[in-house]
Formats: sequence, C-alpha cells, structure tokens
Amino acid sequence: MWWPLVSLRPQKNECFSVKMRVAGSVIIAFLSLVVALAITALIGESATVDSWVAISLGVVALSVVLVATVAWAWNVRAREENVGDAYEEHNMKNDTVLNWNGVLEIAAKGNPEPVRTVVKSDEEWFEQLGAEAYHVTRKQGTERPHSSEMCRLFEPGRYACVCCDELLFDADEKFDSGTGWPSFTQPADDRAVAYHLDESHGMQRVETVCNVCKAHLGHVFPDGPAPSGLRYCINALALKKIAS
Ligand SMILES: [Zn+2]
Repeated sequence: MWWPLVSLRPQKNECFSVKMRVAGSVIIAFLSLVVALAITALIGESATVDSWVAISLGVVALSVVLVATVAWAWNVRAREENVGDAYEEHNMKNDTVLNWNGVLEIAAKGNPEPVRTVVKSDEEWFEQLGAEAYHVTRKQGTERPHSSEMCRLFEPGRYACVCCDELLFDADEKFDSGTGWPSFTQPADDRAVAYHLDESHGMQRVETVCNVCKAHLGHVFPDGPAPSGLRYCINALALKKIAS
C-alpha cells in the first residue's frame, strides 16, 4: 500500500510526482472505505460492538495515513520548489558573467538587438566629436597608450559612449591593467557592447563597438582578472565619465 510514496516521477517533471502521490493516497483511502463498507455489510446485523470498534479504528487509522501522506507530498513539493528557485538564482548569477567563450559565440553568431539606435552622417559625427574622438570612434582609430588621465581614474561612477551617451561601463568593473588604456572586466549591460571579429593588422582580435551607435570602442582580450577573465581595452576618447 506504500507504492504512492515511491517517487514515480521522471526527473524533469517535479509536479508530476506530487500529483501521483496525492492521487495514490486518495485511491487508497477510497478503496479502504469500500472495503470497510463491504465488511460492514457482510457482518450486517450480527456485528458486535467489538467489530464496530475495530472498523472505526481502521477507518481512523487510514484517514491519518491519508492526511500524513498528503502533507508529506506537499512538503516535498515545497522543498522541490525551493531547490528549483536556488538553482535558478545560481544560474542567473553565473549568466551575468560573460566569459571569453561567450564573447566568441556572440561575435560569431550575432549581437543582441540594441535598446535603441543612433545614426548620424560622418559630417555630423565630426562636428559633434572633433578630429581625435571622430578618428577613434568612427574610423577605428587607436589613441596613444597612457595618453589619457582616465587610465588612472578609479573613482566610483559610470562611463558612457562619447557619441550617443549610452551607458557602457561601470567604475566597479574598472581595473589597472598597466596597458595605457582604460580597462574593464565587464560591460554595464549585456546589450550595451557589440562584438565583431577583427582580422586587421595581421591579428585575430575581437573588436568592441557601442551597440547603439556602432562607435569603435577598442578590443576585448581573454587575459583579464576573474571572474570573467576578460579585459575590455577601451580608448578613453570613446568614453565620457558620468556621475554615478
Ligand atoms: Zn554609442
């Protein structure tokens, strides 16, 4: 009679097991009632006081078993849900850390849709940015290393795209790489930065661009600190520091 207490579930369907246990308990209770009624009918008027007491105790005992089994089944379900929540939370935490394999996959398969799009003509960008920032962001230029104070800037705050003001990086993810360019371990948002395989200058690199206005930012390399292991090597001229 304990078969409904055995987990029958396929591993992927947790609710199924609970339903099976409850259904099994109800069936057992129903059959017990039928048996009790049948015994009562068989005994009929010849039933003694003692046999009535025995039948009543049996029905009470079965009811207790039923209630206990249902309560246990619901408890199991609650525990399974808790485990499921913890698992989801764990996955979400891991998902927030983009690693090198993730970068390569995005660069090969395509970038996520940007939250918005900014398109301007070359003349408009030049007028807005000036020669230096225009050359870096719109013509894939690279500023001289150690040419910006931003390399040594580690105060809290955020960094936006100099072209379109989209939030790109947080100072919390900034670190001193010693390379001469501002370096970050993660973008502020998964959709803020887009990745393109770059085989220029005889090298295989991954270019980073602003996903909103397609400004060239720099490159990302797999030699950054944990947990991502990424180093976003970004031109200071492509960024503007904004208040936190
Ligand atoms: Zn931008």
